[in-house]
This record gives sequence, structure tokens and C-alpha cells, in this order.
Amino acid sequence: MPQKKTSTLPSARPASRRGRMDLPSALAESFLALIGRTTSDLPSDVERGLTQAVTREARGSQARATLETLLENIQLARTGVAPLCQDTGTLYFSVRLPSDFPTQILVTAARQAVAEATRRGLLRQNTVNSLTGESHPQNLAEGSPVFHFIPSARSTPEVRLIMKGGGSENVSTQFSLPDESIGANRDVEGIRRCVLEAVVRAQGNGCAPGVLGVCIGGDRAGGYQYAKEQFFRELDDVSPDAIVAEWEKRWLVEINSLGIGPMGLGGKTTLLGLKIGTLSRVPASFFVTTAYMCWAFRRRGLVLTPEGGIHKWLY
Ligand code: SF4
Repeated sequence: MPQKKTSTLPSARPASRRGRMDLPSALAESFLALIGRTTSDLPSDVERGLTQAVTREARGSQARATLETLLENIQLARTGVAPLCQDTGTLYFSVRLPSDFPTQILVTAARQAVAEATRRGLLRQNTVNSLTGESHPQNLAEGSPVFHFIPSARSTPEVRLIMKGGGSENVSTQFSLPDESIGANRDVEGIRRCVLEAVVRAQGNGCAPGVLGVCIGGDRAGGYQYAKEQFFRELDDVSPDAIVAEWEKRWLVEINSLGIGPMGLGGKTTLLGLKIGTLSRVPASFFVTTAYMCWAFRRRGLVLTPEGGIHKWLY
């Protein structure tokens, strides 16, 4: 739920007004604006999904009341430029990077922005030493934030960010087929069973309604990463593979008929979206990996200018 107002949204000055700001400073300012918007301003496709979900739930039902409360909180967070949830999550930056762009300068700028966003209260002090539990008060440590670089033929970087809460990350899972425990073989029915089983196991934990990202294939690590990358697709995005698109549509309906509902309290909306990607695999392995994203689906992105400013916002 949104926290009290702690900051104003960092300005994103147009490149033309940046004067002679150097590349590291301009990048840090752009990253700070990205974090500020991501933490407080839910993307319109997700908000639209929640609004549509309200109309599907019965008047006076717990499900409808829960969804209405979430929508109120989304407005409060936006108006107050406050974190949408007290768990500001793991910051996962996915960067499409031209080969000649200075990676280390970009990483340093992003880390500076994370520290500044934490100082301003846009991010909770949310990173701890795994063994001692001691806080890393600026949210900077080995593995925090997370960067994923994808080589790009574009002339400037595209930076996408999701903030992934722990509750939803905890219910992400991976199946190795065949899996006798759920009767899943290495076929379409086996994949379907994994997808449904992931949602049934979560039972609303992970703060439903959420979105499920799925990777069919890949290795273990790559499967989790590719499942998470599905979150950069908007909710109305349709898989370019007609067969996969059909599974996304059909299985989403099936999942929402399970009755788990918002926060697991019953209802017709357990998932707002199901996004499936596929990777190749070695013949000996067949992984189906799911990444769960909660209703606080904090996803934003931007295209940078060559000077490090904001050319345009994504989402
Ligand atoms: S799962 Fe999402 S909504 Fe729930 S506490 Fe974590 S970040 Fe917040």
C-alpha cells in the first residue's frame, strides 16, 4: 500500500534544456526520473486491467471491495508521488545497449540514482546482507540493483525497469518435465499443468490479481530471466506465435475460473494477464518456468538521448 508522501517526482528536463550537463550527470538524472515514476505511477494498461476487473466482480463482494481499494491506493500513490507498496522490491533494469555506449558510466549513473532515490524515500531501504541480515542502506550491493544487458543495433540505449516485490518473487517457480507430482509430461498438456499449478500453489499469495510470465524451455537460469522479461510486454500484447497466443488466451480464462480471486479471498480475477515466451532447450531438459508479478506491477521505461537525457518514455 502507498506510503506517506516522501518526495516530489524528479524532473525529467528535455534534452534541449540540459545545457552542458555531462553524460554521467544527465544519465543519473534520467535514471532518477525513471525510478521515481516507476515506484509511484502504475502503468495505464495495468490500471485499466484492474478497472475492468472491478466490473466482473459482484457488487458487495470481497473481491470487488479489494479491487476498489487497490485502485484508490494507486491514485493516492500517484498524487502523492509515494511508493505504491512498502516493499519497493528488487530493481531489475533491462537495457538494450548499443555496442559503442559506455556501459560502466551507465551502470554508475544508475547506481547513483538508486542511492538518491533511497535517500528521498522513493525506495525503501530494502537490501540486506544475505548472511547477516544487515542493511545496505543505499540499496547498493552485489546483485542490487540487477542489470540485464541486451545488445542493440539502435543508436541510443532503451532502459526498462520493473520493481519486483518479494511476496510475488517468492511464488515464482520452475518445473522440470516430466513432473510426476502434477502428471506433467513433455507435451502441451504438461505445460498447461505447470502454468495452472503455479497459480494454484500461489493461492493469492504474491498479492493477486497479478500477471504470470512463463518461459518454456531454456536452461534453469535463463528460464527465470526470460519469464521475467515477459513483464515488459503490455497486458494487451499478443504473442507473435499464433499457437502460443491461443494458449495465453485460453489458459488465462481457465485460471480465472479457479475462484482464487484478489488476495486469494475468492472471485473471478486471479490473473490480469498471462504472457508466455519460448526458448530452445537441450533434448535432455524441459523446463517450464513461471515468474509471478503482483498487482503493484511497477513497470516503466525510457529511450535515452546520446547525451543521456530522456528522448521518450515507454509505457
Ligand atoms: S507482493 Fe507486491 S503488493 Fe504484495 S507486498 Fe510485495 S510488492 Fe507489495
